[in-house]
Amino acid sequence: MAPAKKSIMVIKRMAQEEKRADSPPILALRGVTRSYSESMAVDRLSLEVAQGETLVILGPSGCGKTTVLRLIAGLEHPDEGTIDISGRRVAGGREWVPPEKRGVGLVFQDYALFPHLSLSQNIAFGLKGMKPAQRRQRVWEILFLVGLEGLGERHPHQLSGGQQQRVALGRALAPQPQVLLLDEPFSNLDTDLRLQVREEVRRILRTTGTTAIFVTHDQEEAFSLADRLAVLNEGRMEQLEKPDMVYNFPTTRFVADFVGHADFVTGEVTNGSVRTGLGAFPYQTDLPVGTPVEVMVRPDNLLLSPDPEGNTTVVERRFLGPFNQYVLRLSSGDFIHANAPSAVVYAEGIRLRAELRVACLTVFLDATASEVA
Ligand code: ADP
Ligand code: MG
Repeated sequence: MAPAKKSIMVIKRMAQEEKRADSPPILALRGVTRSYSESMAVDRLSLEVAQGETLVILGPSGCGKTTVLRLIAGLEHPDEGTIDISGRRVAGGREWVPPEKRGVGLVFQDYALFPHLSLSQNIAFGLKGMKPAQRRQRVWEILFLVGLEGLGERHPHQLSGGQQQRVALGRALAPQPQVLLLDEPFSNLDTDLRLQVREEVRRILRTTGTTAIFVTHDQEEAFSLADRLAVLNEGRMEQLEKPDMVYNFPTTRFVADFVGHADFVTGEVTNGSVRTGLGAFPYQTDLPVGTPVEVMVRPDNLLLSPDPEGNTTVVERRFLGPFNQYVLRLSSGDFIHANAPSAVVYAEGIRLRAELRVACLTVFLDATASEVA
């Protein structure tokens, strides 16, 4: 019996971001630049954050993430560009609004709680203008929100790391900031706790409708928290879109490589398709027939089946717990990585058929340009 022909669904790249609410952005950076003597920390950065949105900034260490947050918070002056919060210019030109007047809350990786104050006093710290009864009410609400009700009289050293980070979050949220800035807040927590606190933070940001910028170098964290994801590299914005679009349709090679694992298989443009060692895929382009291109392939997007006539040979198997990662050599000479379930074991040297499960075709022309189908 002939094998059933598999249909390949092509995810169409959304032409435009879904139309955002008409309300003006809570935060807007335009052309913001900040350099230090030896380096450009932030380079002409522009972004907008909508009411209630969580924007995650992802990038390698030293790419300028902390500097961006410090600029928004008013702990740094931009060399150029403007920053607006709720339609008010807070930095740029002659305008300068000091940090305490910007309505910005901060959470850092070292929780920076006051050790000599109780949790309630830590949370009440930013509520100086309130009447005592109101303040007590707000502290109670916050303790409840972060799941520490009844622990208000404790001191920070009597809490676990995860609990301390929840207090730090509560303290930042108590004055109801316009924007909450979180700088790698989970990096001091161990893996299990990290996951738990991450879910907790997500719930809190959603239930309070808080507008937040969350900075991390951890892509899983970024994917799980982001409404939209900004990838930063050497102070510049590489891509800003919904997380699945960034993963499936990276617009630069840096993003392709930095976000998940990417292989690039060589191919060429034919009439209405691009032909590669993995097969030919429908592809509309104005590029002339014969133009050499490279197609991005992610290891989780390949389906493997044993086939003596298959297009790949197993070079190596890496057991990674939930899955096996195979290094495969295509007849064309390209090497690719492919993930298969943990229990599916293929010996080195055997031939397999490798097919793209879903052709989210990202085609690169050279080191900087990409075309996307
Ligand atoms: P990230 O948070 O992404 O790791 P940072 O914003 O801390 O990156 O730093 C971006 C770049 O700016 C780095 O090259 C860093 O060395 C430099 N930098 C940051 N702060 C200062 C400073 N106060 N003085 C000099 N250089 C700095
Ligand atoms: Mg940093």
